[in-house]
Amino acid sequence: MKKLLSYIKRKMGSRIDAGKFNPPMIYPHVIETNLRQRIYSTNPLIEKHAGITIHYTADMDENRVIGSLESKGYGYHVLIRRDGDTVQIAPFNRRVHHAGMATWKGYVPNRHHIAVAFMSWGWVKKRSDCRYESWTGANIPPREVRYLNGQFWHFATWAQIEALYKLCDWAKSLKLNPEMICGHDECCIPPGRKVDPGGILMPHIIPNLRKGAKDYDSSIEEVPGVY
Ligand SMILES: [Zn+2]
Repeated sequence: MKKLLSYIKRKMGSRIDAGKFNPPMIYPHVIETNLRQRIYSTNPLIEKHAGITIHYTADMDENRVIGSLESKGYGYHVLIRRDGDTVQIAPFNRRVHHAGMATWKGYVPNRHHIAVAFMSWGWVKKRSDCRYESWTGANIPPREVRYLNGQFWHFATWAQIEALYKLCDWAKSLKLNPEMICGHDECCIPPGRKVDPGGILMPHIIPNLRKGAKDYDSSIEEVPGVY
């Protein structure tokens, strides 16, 4: 963590404004940095027993997602777009309120976890005309929908999943124990209060990340299709 901070300091130098918690800790592989002060706390993220919680946004409009987080006082650290591009909206060394009542292996995700959100509608409805729509009524192409566990989902793309693997692998350099990676549905209290990320990811993916998997093995992935 210290090594990374000094690296960021060197790279960014005077571009960082002065402040107690600066420099902001930024993921080196972000495509864009769009830090939004209203979604992160002045409290530092607790590095000891740090983890990652995985979410989905339930909306595909990035500005609306950020606006909604800002108005509710919630936040994620990064958003992963459908093409795998990662956008950082809060520094990793600050807390965001992302998990509500939650615990993971004895620690509180809102204090210890980096929050990652996939741009995805999440669960979707199948209409009588065999088209799919989001909870807002937005039309979703069938090729982006998958059936899993009794529900239709706007599944994460391979590029998004690969981006998540890359981020988790990088986090090991911060001494993050892969066992501390979880889905929001796994850490929330009571368990199952959220279905998030639910079926947007195949069920083996988060357990694989917890085992420290470096690369995404797509060979066991079901081919998404039209149902
Ligand atoms: Zn969530």
